[in-house]
Amino acid sequence: MEYLSGILAYTTATFPFKFHPLCSPLRLSHLMFADDLLLFCKGDVKSIMVILRSFSTFSHASGLQMNPTKTNAFFNGVPNDIKHEILQISGVHEGLLPFRYLGVPITCGRMSKMDCSILVEKLITHIRSFGSKKLSYSGRLVLVFSVLTAFYNYWMNIFVIPKGVLNKVNSFCRNYLWDGRPDFIRCPRVSWEKICSHKSEGGLGLRDSHIWNIAAMGKLVWWIYYNPDRLWVKCVNQIYLKGQNWDDYQPGTDISWGWKSVLDTKGYTIQSGYEILRQKFQTVTWDTQIWNTWCIPKHQFIAWLVAREALLLKERLLSLGIAVDADCLLCGKGIENHIHLFQTCEYARKIYDELGQLLNVALPATDLIMKLLKMRVSSRLQPNLVSRDVMWLSSVKLHL
Ligand SMILES: [Zn+2]
Repeated sequence: MEYLSGILAYTTATFPFKFHPLCSPLRLSHLMFADDLLLFCKGDVKSIMVILRSFSTFSHASGLQMNPTKTNAFFNGVPNDIKHEILQISGVHEGLLPFRYLGVPITCGRMSKMDCSILVEKLITHIRSFGSKKLSYSGRLVLVFSVLTAFYNYWMNIFVIPKGVLNKVNSFCRNYLWDGRPDFIRCPRVSWEKICSHKSEGGLGLRDSHIWNIAAMGKLVWWIYYNPDRLWVKCVNQIYLKGQNWDDYQPGTDISWGWKSVLDTKGYTIQSGYEILRQKFQTVTWDTQIWNTWCIPKHQFIAWLVAREALLLKERLLSLGIAVDADCLLCGKGIENHIHLFQTCEYARKIYDELGQLLNVALPATDLIMKLLKMRVSSRLQPNLVSRDVMWLSSVKLHL
C-alpha cells in the first residue's frame, strides 16, 4: 500500500489532476487504513483517469487489481452526464451516503435519526442479549452502565447525536433498569435526571447522554489546541481558521452544523464541560452510608430506593389505582408509606428491638434507618446494619 501511495503522490503531482476542493489546501488525494483505501478528487474525467492510471501502474508491478464489485464512487454536485462517464470508464457502481465504515455511518451533512438506526438496533440487540428479568437491580445497573459507557466512549466522542436518538437510548436503558426489558413502558420510580446525578446528590452516578455528547465535543477542541499534527486538525486549520488564532477565531455564517457543534464547546475539557453543563441537585447526607465497600450491591440498591422513598408501597400503589387500600399489612394500624414502614410501624419496632438484642447494640425504637443513614461511618458495623435492616424489612414486605 505504501507503494500505491507513492504512485498516487507522483501521478497527482505530474498529470492534470484536480484535488477535491476541501482537500486541495493539504493536497490530500487518498487515505488508507489497513487494506481500505479512500480516494478524493474533483468530479471530472481527467482526474479519474489519473487515478486509474495509478492503479494500472500498481497492477503491473504487484499483480493486484481493483475489485469493481467491492468499490463504490460517491458524488456530490457532479452533473449527471459527467457522473455516468466516470462510472463507465472506471467500471465501479455509484454508492449512496451514508455508508458504514468501521461500524459508524459516514455522511456529508447533519446526522439524522435514520443514520443512527444502526446504533439504536445495536443497542436494543445488546440489551436484549442480557435477557434476564431475574437479575437484581444492581446487576442491571452494572449492565446499563457498561452499555452507556461503550456508547459514550465511541459514538458520542465522534458524532453529535440527534436528541431523539439520545432520548431513545436513555429510555431503553431506563426501561431495562426498572424491568429488564428495553421496550417496557411504565412510569419510572426515580426520574432519569436524578438517576444521572452524582451519588453525593442522591443519584446513581450515570451520565446524562445529552450533556456528555456536548462535553465530548470539547475533546475535539482540545485536540485543535494541542494536536496540530493530526490530519483533521490540519484540515480545520486550512479550511476554517486560515491562519487565525484559535482563541480569536470568529466563524462565518456559512459554517457546517458539525463545525458549529464543535465551536459551541470551545473552552471546555470533556469533564469540566460536563460538570458545568449538568443539572445539579442538593447534596444528601446518606450517600456514604449506602455506597461503601461493606454493603452488598443488591442491598445498596434497595437501600437507595428507601432513601429516595421510591419503593412501591401501598400508599403509592393506591395513588396509581393498583391497590384497593393503603393499610399497613404488617400492623394494620397506619398508612403503608416509607415513614410508617421504616419508622413508626409497630411490627418494625419489634424487629428493631429483637435486632438490637441479637446484636447486643442499643437501637432506638423509632427512625432507626434514617438515623443510621445520617450517621457518619465510624465502624464496620453501621453500614452493614443499615443494609441488613432495609433488606430485612423489604424482604418481609415483598414476601407478604
Ligand atoms: Zn405498620
